[in-house]
Amino acid sequence: MVPGGRNGSGSGSVPQDLAGLPELDEELLLETLLSRFREQKIYTYIGDILIAINPFCTLPLYEKSVSEMYKNHDKSLLPPHIFAVAARAYEAMRGRWATGPQNQCIVISGESGAGKTENTKLLLRQIMELCRGNSQLEQQILQVNPLLEAFGNAQTVINDNSSRFGKYIQLRFSDSTVKGAKINEYLLEKSRVSHQDHGERNFHIFYYMFAGMSVADKEMFGILEPVLYRYINQTYGDEAQAAYWKEKYQGVCNSMDMVGFEEQEQVDMQTILAGILSLGNVVFEPQETGGVTVALCSHGWLKAVAGQFGVEEEELLNCLVRTVSVTRGESIQRLHTQQQAEDARDSIARMVYGRVFGWIVRKINELLAHTVLPDVELKEIGILDIFGFENFAVNHFEQFCINLANEQLQYFFNHHIFLMEQKEYELEGISWDTITFNNNKPILDLFLAKPMGILSLLDEQSAFPRATDATFVEKLNSNFKGHKNYETWRSRVPGFTIVHYAGKVQYTGCGFLEKNRDTLPGSIRTLFINSVTPLLSVLFTATVSRTGTLMPHQKGKITPLEEEKFNTSRKQSVGAQFRHSLVVLMEKMYSANPHFVRCIKPNGNKQPDVVDRKMILDQLRYNGLLETIRIRRDGFSWRPSFQDFTQRFGILLLKPALPLTMESCLSILQTTGLTDWKCGKSRLFFKYWHQEQLLKIVDRLN
Ligand code: ADP
Ligand code: MG
Repeated sequence: MVPGGRNGSGSGSVPQDLAGLPELDEELLLETLLSRFREQKIYTYIGDILIAINPFCTLPLYEKSVSEMYKNHDKSLLPPHIFAVAARAYEAMRGRWATGPQNQCIVISGESGAGKTENTKLLLRQIMELCRGNSQLEQQILQVNPLLEAFGNAQTVINDNSSRFGKYIQLRFSDSTVKGAKINEYLLEKSRVSHQDHGERNFHIFYYMFAGMSVADKEMFGILEPVLYRYINQTYGDEAQAAYWKEKYQGVCNSMDMVGFEEQEQVDMQTILAGILSLGNVVFEPQETGGVTVALCSHGWLKAVAGQFGVEEEELLNCLVRTVSVTRGESIQRLHTQQQAEDARDSIARMVYGRVFGWIVRKINELLAHTVLPDVELKEIGILDIFGFENFAVNHFEQFCINLANEQLQYFFNHHIFLMEQKEYELEGISWDTITFNNNKPILDLFLAKPMGILSLLDEQSAFPRATDATFVEKLNSNFKGHKNYETWRSRVPGFTIVHYAGKVQYTGCGFLEKNRDTLPGSIRTLFINSVTPLLSVLFTATVSRTGTLMPHQKGKITPLEEEKFNTSRKQSVGAQFRHSLVVLMEKMYSANPHFVRCIKPNGNKQPDVVDRKMILDQLRYNGLLETIRIRRDGFSWRPSFQDFTQRFGILLLKPALPLTMESCLSILQTTGLTDWKCGKSRLFFKYWHQEQLLKIVDRLN
């Protein structure tokens, strides 16, 4: 890779920083990005924002030598790169631009398959390279991603390694060494456990197990031929795939060892996963005396599940074929129809998998928790890799939540880049032509407003026993008809349309209430609490707290009656929990210094060297990149206070005890020869490139 200056052109004639473009229109923006892309230059800056186009092939961009280069050389002289973002965040965390260290967050956004997760991994790797200290912890942190991906990623039609959950990784530092890490996970797509659309697969881990386990282990866990299992659509892969999965399985086992999972925990976990697979094969048939029972052909599977889950076969059967509800001390039984029994089966499978995943994350967090004394101040770099915007032929509750998260992120971007910045010009008396942008606040309000936003109405309906998906949609129609981001949708099933910042999405209302309630029947809870598999019992004795973290619940004998009460009175809906976790996330992000990486998908077929111009243009448009270039070109993205600036750069005057005032700042700046900056009432306004220039002057002095 050939280094080239920030505002220079690298090896070609195309500028690598779009904020340096003298003229600006969509066509030019697209052409600039594409001509770079054709030369395998997938990264481009807009000032301090990085754009990354997915090459869908391996490029020689991430070798050791490149990593070293970005570690040791002046970033402003090197081509745009994700490693440069790592360095900027790391340096900023250590206080290079301000007086003391500051929390940082790196926000990676883009559609599914645009490259968010790959860039997240590269960031993590490079940050670990930069801090090189406690190497065991660093190695452990690097093992977290392969682990999470095995359990939380799956092949979809859009992406062979699609993240089916969102994550925020917090790296904690004291001075320049990493002291701990914490993962926050959001909304694992549990429905994938029991159902995958055509051309999609279940979570990777199932295939890894089939391919990687020894014959003896398979016998021990009770795992048979893959093509027998309904939960993977009775389809497997060819030899090459199996060989790849086998390797991955070894990798997962190694990662678990390295992070610190105990042998017994791993055995328990795999037994539970085997149990989920067996459960999928339990089918039902009507019974002469009414209701349904397990079909003769799947008796063996029922027995297998009971063994794998460590529960009584009879009790398991009961949970599948009937619902027991307890009202005022009296228990009422309702026999399931065939459909209800199948739903119960699938819902148990999803619930168990979801809890295994939650446990893995919790365990990782325990093992990687920082171990420094409480009075040592830690600074953070957070990396957000959340599911991208989704728009399928049919969209469900899951897409609804995912797209809400993306609206929130877009708002964060807008707020930071446009609102805050322009407000400061006004406050500080800097003359400025306002740049308008597409403000998505009305859409956020449509979702989140209380008491009349969609989520609130959903909760209201979920709490109402006689409500259905249809009455929910009617409620939305009567409340939001006429809202510019809401459209009624006439179809066979109840549904509605939201005009998102990234386009129109049609949602089917089917399943909204059920998925939002996500209730765990007391009988199922009791079944698992009494499991002889220790891990399974733990998974169901833990309760979910308001913050979405799991809290151990006192283990003991819990009667179904207590359980029932617990579930109906205390449990928050999925929507409410998600809303809350978004609030917590936003609080963290607003109190940190953000770095943005915008990933772009060049085509919809995972093809290298194929460019779908319209698709790229759409992404540039809804991301507001044209406006972003304008504000980065004309605006002042670095705005230190007089105090911060004097403290940091006072050394340039070589005078002791400098007062922290505007006058001192102006004297300092006079010695530098910098141009194009402005002075406000309480702070200075600099272009993004001034930072590098100033540091060079300081370095020369040293
Ligand atoms: P997202 O997380 O945005 O859904 P991923 O990061 O999983 O997307 O990327 C999808 C696929 O694209 C990856 O599995 C990989 O094959 C390819 N890819 C993404 N970024 C790169 C990159 N920088 N270099 C090479 N391949 C990439
Ligand atoms: Mg991803």
